[in-house]
Amino acid sequence: MSYPLSASRLQTYQRCPQSYYFRYERGLKQPGFFGAASLGTALHQALAKVYGDWPYQQPELPLAWVQRCWQECSASLPPSQVAEGRHILEGYYHQFLAGQAVRKPLALEGRIQGHLQVENLEFTISGRYDRLDYFEDGIELIDYKSAKEMHLPDAQTIDMQIGVYFLALEQRYHQSLKQMSLLFLRTGELITYLATPAHKERVLDSVSDLAKKLQNDQDWEPITGKHCDRCGYRRYCKAVNPNPEPLPEGLKAACSTGSLQLTLSL
Ligand code: SF4
Repeated sequence: MSYPLSASRLQTYQRCPQSYYFRYERGLKQPGFFGAASLGTALHQALAKVYGDWPYQQPELPLAWVQRCWQECSASLPPSQVAEGRHILEGYYHQFLAGQAVRKPLALEGRIQGHLQVENLEFTISGRYDRLDYFEDGIELIDYKSAKEMHLPDAQTIDMQIGVYFLALEQRYHQSLKQMSLLFLRTGELITYLATPAHKERVLDSVSDLAKKLQNDQDWEPITGKHCDRCGYRRYCKAVNPNPEPLPEGLKAACSTGSLQLTLSL
């Protein structure tokens, strides 16, 4: 069995190994974790349709095409969200599509995986993307953001995401990640981060550290900080709670290296 990793898993691990242990090794869910809002999901689906189904031999992509895609993807939304989504996509059209030669993306709304062998263990590292655009000097990954508040991830999150995508895209397309862009659909703001091989190295260091922990059954030590204020595991955490509760019954057993695929070391 290959050990699954993602940017958010690695980021949790870097921030606090103990919270990683609770969440991923023992499968303890944090309270207050909600699924994606339906308007956001419909916007993502509509944009995938706009780019994915457009016949690219046509000279210019019209607004009517965007409106048609939205109609097809918003059928289950209440009228207020249908109107809100149409307004957001019309803004998107005028900023990013109108009067421009629209390029066919390399891929849309997908999942990408890379494989790593570290410390005789096999890891599968994966991430999601909304759109991949191909350029001669590398790939651009676009991540659509539909939340009302424009929340920028912290530098550590961004670095980890870029490193994971860099590694996975290199394996899948034999092409490096050139940049990652966050596109805020409600405001049209586009924030771009350049990618470098150093991002990949940082991910490799983190995986190597995690692999040692898995190999040697070391303690998953708590690392306290501002992040503890929003941590859902406080009640179980000996670092912030003098009388921590025992973990609930019925959690999955911690992963043992015996169940992970060992790689050949020659
Ligand atoms: S409260 Fe802080 S130290 Fe404890 S598990 Fe959560 S993040 Fe880690």
